[in-house]
Amino acid sequence: MIKFIISFLFFSQAALATVVLIDPGHGGDETGAVGKLNKSRMIYEKDLSLRLASRIKKHLEKDANVFLTRSHDRTVTLQERADMADKLKADLFISVHFNSSTDPKAHGFETYYLDNNNDAAVRKVEKLENVNPKGDEAVVQQILIDLTIQQTVKTSKALAASVHKRLHGHMKPTHMSDRGVRAGLFYVLALSKRPGLLLEAGFISNPSELKIIQQEEFMERYAQGVAAGIRDYIKN
Ligand SMILES: [Zn+2]
Repeated sequence: MIKFIISFLFFSQAALATVVLIDPGHGGDETGAVGKLNKSRMIYEKDLSLRLASRIKKHLEKDANVFLTRSHDRTVTLQERADMADKLKADLFISVHFNSSTDPKAHGFETYYLDNNNDAAVRKVEKLENVNPKGDEAVVQQILIDLTIQQTVKTSKALAASVHKRLHGHMKPTHMSDRGVRAGLFYVLALSKRPGLLLEAGFISNPSELKIIQQEEFMERYAQGVAAGIRDYIKN
């Protein structure tokens, strides 16, 4: 009987736990942004996003059921990522990226949630992140985007505020600049149909920022900040 009660408690708790799907951007054939650390060492966004996403998962595991859309270097379409959110019945979807710009001085981290935005700088980031590995840009019907925004924007905005607040504190010692919370149209968020975020954790295209963001210390700080922010959100 005791065994029954214990297993009942265990399973009911597991069933109630928040399911968080963390999505390391790009992968496989699709490298994402590319930077040069020194003359010979190339750094790919797909590798940094996997490192950071895995760490966020590690720090969040005590508080939620956490999954990754990919756990190694493989090609995954935006639709496949969204399908995983459906299959796992994910409550939250967190896509992890690093930024790139033609301006080598562009720097800092920013937190996006799904909503309309006409800002030209945001448009550039959307263009970079909305490319599908199959070669064509994801075609998402406006009606689906509008519906997802309607259903998720309130939660996503609150989650973004919670995560970014923690990030701001955790990243202070790195002196990286805080570019704030922004709205953007990211297909992977629209397709997932879940409240969620797209994190741009720093600029690969900026040589001095690249030195910081590929370090273990940065990864640890950022991951702890994101995990703390999601935890705050879940518990409130
Ligand atoms: Zn990206």
